[in-house]
Amino acid sequence: MTSPAADSPLDVLQRVFGYDAFRGQQAEIVEHVADGGDAVVLMPTGGGKSLCYQIPALLREGTGIVVSPLIALMHDQVEALRAVGVRAAYLNSTQSPGERADVERAYLAGELDLLYVAPERLSSEQTKRFLGGGRIALFAIDEAHCVSQWGHDFRPDYLALSELAERWPDVPRIALTATATEATHAEITQRLELGQARHFVASFDRPNIQYRIVPKRNVRSQLIDFIRAEGEGASGIVYALSRKSVERTAEQLTASGIPALPYHAGLDAAVRAETQSRFLREDGLVIVATIAFGMGIDKPDVRFVAHIDMPKSVEGYYQETGRAGRDGEPSVTWLAYGLQDVIQQRRMIEDSPGDLAHRRRASQHLDAMLALCETVQCRRVNLLRYFGQAAQPCGNCDTCLEPPAIVDGTIPAQKLLSTIVRLERERGQRFGAGQIIDILRGTATARTRQHGHDSLSTWGIGADLGDQSWRGIVRQLLAQGLLASRGEYGVLGLTEASTGVLRGETTVMLRDEPERSPRVRSRRRD
Ligand code: ADP
Ligand code: ZN
Repeated sequence: MTSPAADSPLDVLQRVFGYDAFRGQQAEIVEHVADGGDAVVLMPTGGGKSLCYQIPALLREGTGIVVSPLIALMHDQVEALRAVGVRAAYLNSTQSPGERADVERAYLAGELDLLYVAPERLSSEQTKRFLGGGRIALFAIDEAHCVSQWGHDFRPDYLALSELAERWPDVPRIALTATATEATHAEITQRLELGQARHFVASFDRPNIQYRIVPKRNVRSQLIDFIRAEGEGASGIVYALSRKSVERTAEQLTASGIPALPYHAGLDAAVRAETQSRFLREDGLVIVATIAFGMGIDKPDVRFVAHIDMPKSVEGYYQETGRAGRDGEPSVTWLAYGLQDVIQQRRMIEDSPGDLAHRRRASQHLDAMLALCETVQCRRVNLLRYFGQAAQPCGNCDTCLEPPAIVDGTIPAQKLLSTIVRLERERGQRFGAGQIIDILRGTATARTRQHGHDSLSTWGIGADLGDQSWRGIVRQLLAQGLLASRGEYGVLGLTEASTGVLRGETTVMLRDEPERSPRVRSRRRD
């Protein structure tokens, strides 16, 4: 830009970026920051955060310094800006010393509108001294939730960013994130010293996204049914937790006539880049990925996002599902989760290297995710409440569209809990869900015989329910905190709240999940 100073924000939006009008709170944010104010911006993915600092950087004298942890994306972001004539560059560890020197020279000569910098660079005194040699228009701190130790994406380098305020008190700072829990918001404000900033909190509702969460049975065939229902030509992302599961799922989809490609950190960089660009280019391609995929991928017409394993947190779920429907057209998210997910994730938390506080936080994240899975109320209301926003039942989620039948599950819960109590009190034994369910159903196995479990007074008292139903009950009791799962084998134990159930003081309400035998279907005769 040669002389942007005389332009208005709207001029820049139209002339440089080619858009007609600002969206949502963009205009207010741009004006506030261009005038030198500090800002904290909470806006969902796809909401248009980038323009909130790019336009003020163009309007103010000097270079806008953008702190971003997504090194892999800097190159693309800078290219996109250059393509519309903005003088942008980046500094990160992928560059050669020669390339870096060129960028540094351009900055000091005042030839840059925007300079993207990785956070670890900004924590060095050398970089700060270098920046001090030029003119800074503003600091934009992207993905600001990375400063939060409470959050799921903590990066220690972000903590050093608090020094920016002390060193450059007159330079406006804008922190942006798509994570909006109250805890994260408060931590961003405090740690980045943005107490004086204006806060812009957009609605996190994505009305065009339909939320569905189902109990896991035979997950890959459930997934295939789901994708087929979305129709041919629908582009989508399927998230799985492990690389092996990613590979296997992609193979199985392809074998079922659904074009799918795997994506995970273990694949060659060139293969990943090719997969990514095919996904952007082609219609009807499904990417099966670990969470490594999607950060910053701007494909507007992703029609569905599916999870075949439960995400670790509601923030993660929201961010991943948020990659659907950026074009505003109807899109569907689908999550299948089961008892195994709960047990596995509890175990991962117990085994994680962090301190006790870290494990407790991870555990609270998981509890909130479970509560969303098991809620009998509107998913959207539950999701938005997690982000501190009120909403009305949406009419566009599974529980609104097909309200689940609720049943009184007090008796089965008592049977289950008293089996656990008996085993522990009478025999000093603890078992996982499988063995407890075998006892309840009176299913004789080598293991039940070995332990003489058929002589327990609760042997067979739950024979009226199938294995699937019992697993659902265990899962729901875990989610409601009426049961605890511990250790490598997910042994079940009681919680404080379990006592009320055993004494008959607490009524247990459960989602009714009719037993289904997935393989037995009546064939149509013709
Ligand atoms: P976020 O960083 O919040 O996820 P982006 O800044 O990447 O969102 O913007 C998402 C998409 O919306 C981009 O393709 C961007 O070009 C587009 N966009 C942003 N603001 C506007 C606007 N005012 N008018 C039209 N398109 C916009
Ligand atoms: Zn709803």
